[in-house]
Amino acid sequence: MRVRRATTLGFCGGVRRAIKIVSAEASKRGEPIYSLGQTVHNPQVVKQLAEKGVYEVGSLEAVQGRVVSITAHGAAPWVAEEVKAQGFELVDATCPLVTDVHSAVANLKDDGFKVIVYGDPGHTEVKGIVGWAAGEAVVVSPDQDPQQWEPPFPIKTNTKIGIVSQTTQDVQSFSQFVATLSARFVGRIRELRVLNTICQPTVLRQEAALKLAGEVDAMVVIGGRRSANTRRLWELCLAAGKPAYWIETLEELDPGWFTPDQVVGVTAGASTPDWLIDQVIERLEAL
Ligand code: SF4
Repeated sequence: MRVRRATTLGFCGGVRRAIKIVSAEASKRGEPIYSLGQTVHNPQVVKQLAEKGVYEVGSLEAVQGRVVSITAHGAAPWVAEEVKAQGFELVDATCPLVTDVHSAVANLKDDGFKVIVYGDPGHTEVKGIVGWAAGEAVVVSPDQDPQQWEPPFPIKTNTKIGIVSQTTQDVQSFSQFVATLSARFVGRIRELRVLNTICQPTVLRQEAALKLAGEVDAMVVIGGRRSANTRRLWELCLAAGKPAYWIETLEELDPGWFTPDQVVGVTAGASTPDWLIDQVIERLEAL
């Protein structure tokens, strides 16, 4: 069996940066850091961070120390305010590309736009983005049919709509969503402003996965179950018409999925560590 690796896969700059920030702070301070949620959406990385003194907590009530961190996915502005108000020290590991989306929606809101966020309503990043639009943004899930979707605000000739995307969404689906909304509303409103906030590392991983999926017999996608960008990679590989297997750990890899004459492609989400990718490739090559 031959194994091919996507030209771009695994850790993005934002994830590397977040891990570096919290690890360095824990070591420099010599005391634990409590992360409000997973610093990055990968359980193996979260486990390694815990060994360095960075612990995941669900809320401020669970913090047992002095230092609290915000994850790579960012948070609503009031989260940092609350952290400081309760006397904790703040370590902010928000990816700068997520911060760009925060600024974008805050500006749209200030300029009188109704803000639409294309993304997963339950995802940490999306909740944070909504917070930066003063909590008033409308989230439209990729699962929703944009032809059927009705805005929860009146459509008038002076209405202005601004659209952004969760950084890890699929470019093609976002384009289709925007095109449909544009066809439905542009003639009835004053302005439709679209900001492409899908991050470049996501685009590169998607393009590389799609290209590879077109050239191999099956794809293995490695990444955390809660990783939105890993899910997207897996969906893209399936949409390319190839069997695609999403695994989080090496143990989940089933040799029965493949036959010896096959060429298998490997890709991985932006929060999947290099050592895990190498382990999986090594095992596949040994089959
Ligand atoms: S996927 Fe994009 S937005 Fe998310 S951490 Fe990586 S670079 Fe930042």
